[in-house]
Amino acid sequence: MRYIIIALLGLYATAQVPSDHQQDLYSIIDEVSEKRIENDVKKLADFGTRNTFSDTLSNTRGIGAARRWIKAEFDKISAECGGCLEVFYQRDYVTKEMGSRVPKDAWVVNVVAIQRGTSQPNNFVIMSGDIDSRASDTMDFTTDAPGANDNASGMAGTIEAARVLSKRKFANSIVYVGLSGEEQGLFGGAGLARYAKDNDWNVLGILNNDMIGNIKGVDGVIDNRSFRIFSEPTNVTDDETTKRLRRFYGGEVDGHSRQLARYIHNSVKSYMPEMNPMMIYRLDRFGRGGHHRPFNDLGFPGIRIMEAHENYTQQHQDIRTENGIEYGDVVKHVNFPYAKKLTAVNAINLAQLAWAPAPPKTVKIGGMVEASARLEWSKVPNAVGYKIYWRDTTSPTWDHSRFVGNTNNHTLEGIVIDNYYFGVAAVAADGTESIVVFPNEVSR
Ligand SMILES: [Zn+2]
Repeated sequence: MRYIIIALLGLYATAQVPSDHQQDLYSIIDEVSEKRIENDVKKLADFGTRNTFSDTLSNTRGIGAARRWIKAEFDKISAECGGCLEVFYQRDYVTKEMGSRVPKDAWVVNVVAIQRGTSQPNNFVIMSGDIDSRASDTMDFTTDAPGANDNASGMAGTIEAARVLSKRKFANSIVYVGLSGEEQGLFGGAGLARYAKDNDWNVLGILNNDMIGNIKGVDGVIDNRSFRIFSEPTNVTDDETTKRLRRFYGGEVDGHSRQLARYIHNSVKSYMPEMNPMMIYRLDRFGRGGHHRPFNDLGFPGIRIMEAHENYTQQHQDIRTENGIEYGDVVKHVNFPYAKKLTAVNAINLAQLAWAPAPPKTVKIGGMVEASARLEWSKVPNAVGYKIYWRDTTSPTWDHSRFVGNTNNHTLEGIVIDNYYFGVAAVAADGTESIVVFPNEVSR
């Protein structure tokens, strides 16, 4: 009897103890350095302006100096991990005819660092920040535009995530990238999204960071715990048939970028419970844009991570004092403990997505006029099993789940299909999961 109890306790323990990778997420959070982020934001702000059309020859001022410094940082990180990063410039030529905010023809240059996956190198998770900054007039490429928060904060966070994660090995590839041309029409993001498409990257998601350092809103609200995850509701690339069928089967708030947002929301709730992640059900802020959009445009899941409270006197403003108000995006307004937290949010999600299998390609659902819901999916490499998620139709989060083992189908008895939304995630041996896939086929 005693032996049986011990054996059972042993089984219980293996089922409950987190895997080494899951436990390592806490170390990743701790290893993100506030000080290094501060140094990097200061360094980037010191280039005077990083306007995409600014000087490229100087080694101390302008976007050329800034991108060479970022590349050198990635090269340094790579040297410390035995060459684990492939660092290169990805560039596209932009001409005046391509946009009303392009003052002259120029190369838009991104700095890319790829940490190749060990077993599924063609699966990619991407973290981005922006290299470029702007003054009050976006066409003005000579006036000082330190862009400390917009977006040296996102750029510094991306470099810091590379420092922390490059000490580890992942099944999938991680891309750390500084994008340019954001302020003039999202050119850098469009260029890298096209590059990913042309090279047949299986992009699991892009985490675009744009302004992750401000905690005091223009309205006086101070909040160092909340941040926003913007995601568009449905895939903009869906065809007419998919859009028509959504009316009958649902999916109005379940595009793949939304699933990525839910994934991040869930992992922050689990591993960084002191934070308050706000899922915002829209592509971006009202009428405004960001570098995840060009990835969405080509059919990739992508979201924007951002502070909750913006300060408009400290973004896109020439440095000046007017009526007692200090305008300008300068270093003193950036809150580094907060930037560290949001960098950690990125790092733990990049890590999980890079350890996890890719999500199933197809998920089929059926169960009309039955007291059950039937799900069937395509299997993926590196998965040891699958998890079915469901939720009330009014809930923003996947509130119920069941692990169903290494099978390609399962029927949830007693769960009426009409009353819930369903999805399926792939699970790795270390317990990490893919994003949830909302059903994309119907079985009768
Ligand atoms: Zn901006």
